[in-house]
Amino acid sequence: MNETGQLHGSCLCGGVAYRADLPVSHASHCYCTMCQKQHGAAAGSYANVAAAGYVVERGADLITEYASSSHARRGFCKVCGSTLFWRSTQAPDRIAITLGTLEPEYDGPVQRELHTDTKPAWLPHR
Ligand SMILES: [Zn+2]
Ligand SMILES: [Zn+2]
Repeated sequence: MNETGQLHGSCLCGGVAYRADLPVSHASHCYCTMCQKQHGAAAGSYANVAAAGYVVERGADLITEYASSSHARRGFCKVCGSTLFWRSTQAPDRIAITLGTLEPEYDGPVQRELHTDTKPAWLPHR
């Protein structure tokens, strides 16, 4: 991990920038069909951090939150569509930030694969 004790990230258009305090409790690849739809990809990849340490440094007004279920909120940039976070109203002290928006590249372990029953068959086979 970096020396600052923080993760930094931004969206594709650069309008949104954020930081989050370490530590990461766990990171995951989630293959649920909602993550596949929202990310347009095989999985949503996230690092779970404390909500209190998550700070939007730029572009808070560009973040739209979509309620994908009764408790889940998915934040994205309304300009470029980058997915930024997943959070649950049932666990407001935590937030899951997207690994793909982190700069530099996330260098921690990914401990969990979720909803592997809907993991797409079109992923490359190892
Ligand atoms: Zn953007
Ligand atoms: Zn998911």
